[in-house]
Amino acid sequence: MHKKERIVILAGDGIGPEVMAQGIKLLNKLEEYIEIGFDLDEHLVGGAALKAYGVPLKPETLESCKQASAVLLGAVGSPEFDDNPPDLRPERALLDLRAGLGCFCNLRPIHLYKALIDSSTLKREVIADIDLLVVRELTGGLYFGKPAGFETANGERTAVNTMTYSEAEIQRIARKAFEFARLRRRKVTSVDKANVLAVSQLWRSVVEDVAKEFPDVQLEHMLVDNCAMQLIRNPRQFDVILTENMFGDILSDEASMLPGSIGLLPSASLGDGTPIYEPVHGSAPDIAGKGLANPIALLNSIAMMFRYTFSRPLVALAIEEAISTILLRGYHTADMKLEGGKQVGSEEIGDLIISEIIQEYSRPFMTA
Ligand code: NAD
Repeated sequence: MHKKERIVILAGDGIGPEVMAQGIKLLNKLEEYIEIGFDLDEHLVGGAALKAYGVPLKPETLESCKQASAVLLGAVGSPEFDDNPPDLRPERALLDLRAGLGCFCNLRPIHLYKALIDSSTLKREVIADIDLLVVRELTGGLYFGKPAGFETANGERTAVNTMTYSEAEIQRIARKAFEFARLRRRKVTSVDKANVLAVSQLWRSVVEDVAKEFPDVQLEHMLVDNCAMQLIRNPRQFDVILTENMFGDILSDEASMLPGSIGLLPSASLGDGTPIYEPVHGSAPDIAGKGLANPIALLNSIAMMFRYTFSRPLVALAIEEAISTILLRGYHTADMKLEGGKQVGSEEIGDLIISEIIQEYSRPFMTA
């Protein structure tokens, strides 16, 4: 009898359900080859939940997530809710999920696929061999600080958000960054705005204290504006980038363009409770429903789930290798440029990748 793992599936909005369809196909197929069974528990989230229930995340859905081994999320967001108040926007579901599940540590690995070296908007020599990991704090800072909101005084509207971090919040995310650096090239670049913000001055001082526990890891500090520039000028200098919530949001999207498309990049959000795995990209309303969405970010997110939640690094590797092989054979979706390659849709690239993974498993030495 195979062990059953319950995964909450939150496909969401726009291209979310399209990329998720490929993920579900992969999980169903993998069950035949590995000794884990999956109980896939699907729920509405974001705009889809707003339409059905009037809220972006039902408390029952959050409760199901708390009881699961992992959450796999597609994307949320829809222009039809753009004028809603913050609490009734699809994106609110993400914040409530992260906070509700205690996912304070967001990992966004970024590396270059050999096949795509000419797909990036940057020159080959700048991006060759990039391999970096953004470790972003996910449950503090400006997106959660209070007070937050609008008010009107003397007939004029004002709005406020608050950036706040405690020592404990900084310590736990800094430790994660140093731990991951130990598994890589042992360098942490901590990004802040310590020349202006008190929060960043505390951040820098706490990170320096934590660094003393990891004398084998090199620490450097970088101001966020410089980091934005260095990511374009010389991204190869980075190993682990450690930063707070909003800086990480912006820098990781910037970094996501280095390999050529945001449609490739996965993320894992880890912490005290159920982890969340999801692509870095959003719901891409401009291409939704057209069969064009690139499912690779979602499939790479499943690879991260096998690595961090199911402790099956060989399964993760098989997924990542298959993606690389299919790209090297010239198959790509519309968001990637591949000279002389063959453009295919979401469904077809999903099928190609899944059959490549299965071929891996059919080889006698593969006993993941
Ligand atoms: P986006 O990531 O949805 O799209 C940016 C661009 O990248 C678009 O041109 C889109 O077509 C393209 N793109 C993104 N993913 C792709 C994929 N898998 N395949 C092919 N092309 C892809 O960002 P946006 O346009 O700023 O936001 C759209 C909506 O998504 C908004 O409502 C936003 O709030 C939401 N959003 C959600 C998340 C999330 O669910 N985690 C993240 C970011 C944005």
